[in-house]
Amino acid sequence: MISRLPVVCSTCNDVFALRVQIGHLDKQEHKFKCLRCKEPMTLVLDLSEGVVEIESFSGLSIYDGDGASLETLFLSSDFIVNEEDSRNPFFFPSIREVNSLIKDRGLADFDSIGGKFISYRDETNIILDFWGSISSAYRLYGVGEYFLSSRKIEGVLGNDSGRKKGIDYALCCFHKEVYGDSGWYDFVKKTYDKNSVNFRKFLCWYSEFIKKERMDGIFSILNEYFKNFKYHREAFIYVKNSREFPENGFVTSDFFDDISKYYASAFEERSKQLVVLTAFNNILNGRDFDSLENIDLYKYSKSDAAKKRNNLVNNDFLYNETSEYDSKLRNAIYHGWIRHDTNKNSLMYKSSEGSSDFFNLSVAEYIFKCGVITRQISGFGCVVFYLNDIMRKNAYVLKDLDF
Ligand SMILES: [Zn+2]
Repeated sequence: MISRLPVVCSTCNDVFALRVQIGHLDKQEHKFKCLRCKEPMTLVLDLSEGVVEIESFSGLSIYDGDGASLETLFLSSDFIVNEEDSRNPFFFPSIREVNSLIKDRGLADFDSIGGKFISYRDETNIILDFWGSISSAYRLYGVGEYFLSSRKIEGVLGNDSGRKKGIDYALCCFHKEVYGDSGWYDFVKKTYDKNSVNFRKFLCWYSEFIKKERMDGIFSILNEYFKNFKYHREAFIYVKNSREFPENGFVTSDFFDDISKYYASAFEERSKQLVVLTAFNNILNGRDFDSLENIDLYKYSKSDAAKKRNNLVNNDFLYNETSEYDSKLRNAIYHGWIRHDTNKNSLMYKSSEGSSDFFNLSVAEYIFKCGVITRQISGFGCVVFYLNDIMRKNAYVLKDLDF
C-alpha cells in the first residue's frame, strides 16, 4: 500500500507530494530532502494501531490543498528503487518485487506466492523478536543464568531445545530461518571426512582458543545490525534472498551517519572468522590444520587482514561464502578517508593516505554490502554449532577414554 501525502517545505515553501510505501514495522521513520532546496526533512509514521498515523515530522508542514498534480517523491523502508522511479507518480515497486520473488523462488504465478509474500513482510517483526530472544539468552548465559537462558531459547524453538542443544543451536536455527541453509553442514562434514585425526586436533585448538571469542563476535555484530535494522532494511529483501544489487539502486532515506562505522566492525569480525575457515582449507588440502602453504596459522592470524582471503581462492565454497570482504572500504572507514555526499546520498573514499584514486559507492550499495557481510558472518553461527555438536556427541562415546 502506498500513502500519498502532500507537504510544504518549511525553508523554501516548495510544495510536493510524498508517496510513502506502508510497511509492517510498528514505527516507520524516513529522513529525506526537499526536492528543491535540499533541506533535510523527517517523517515518522505510527502503524501500531493498524492505521497510518503521523507521529511526528520536521522541516515540513502538511499541505491542505488537493495537491493532485504535484511532483512526487517515493519513500520506502522495504525496497531499493532507482532515482528515476522514485520520482515517478505511477511507480508501484511492490508489484515488481513480488514478480522478482516469484522468479527467485521458482514459483509459477502470483497466486502461488501471495500468502508467502505477505508472510515475508510480516516476518520482519518476527525476525526482530527471534533475534531479541537469542541475544537475551546469550546475555543471560554470560552472567551464569543458565536456566533462564534455556527458557528463552525454548520460548522460540520449543521444549527442551535450549537444554539439549544450547545457544549455538539457536544461532544456527536463526541463520537458516532468516537467510536459508548456506550448506555449512556438508562442508564441515567433508572436512572431517578428509582427515578425522587432523580434524580432532583442530577441534582442541578451536575449543580452547577460538570458540568463546567468535561467539562473542557474532553476537556483537548481529546485535549491532538488528539494533539498526530500520536503516538496513531497504536492502534486506535482496540480501535475504541472495539476490544481486538492483541496477542503479538508490535509497530515499538518509541514515548513513547512523551506520557509517558498521562495515568496518563487521569486516574485523569476518577477518577473525577467516582464520577458522583457513584451518578447514588446510585440512582439505592435506596439510595439518595449522599449516598453510608457506606459513603457519599463527603467523597467518597476525598477517594483513586485506590479504587473508587470498588463500581460499581455490576453494569455491569458501571463496563464495567470503565474497563480501572489502578491505579498501574498511580502511577508508577506519581511517576516516570517506566522505558522504548528502545531496546524492553517495560515498566517495580512498584506500590509503596518499592515494588520489577515489572510489564511489551509493549509500544503497553500502547498505547492501553491510547486509551481505552480515549474512556471511551469521552463517558462521552454523559452523560454531556443527563443531560444538561433534564435541558434544563424542563426549558421550561409550568406550574407554585415553587419560
Ligand atoms: Zn525546500
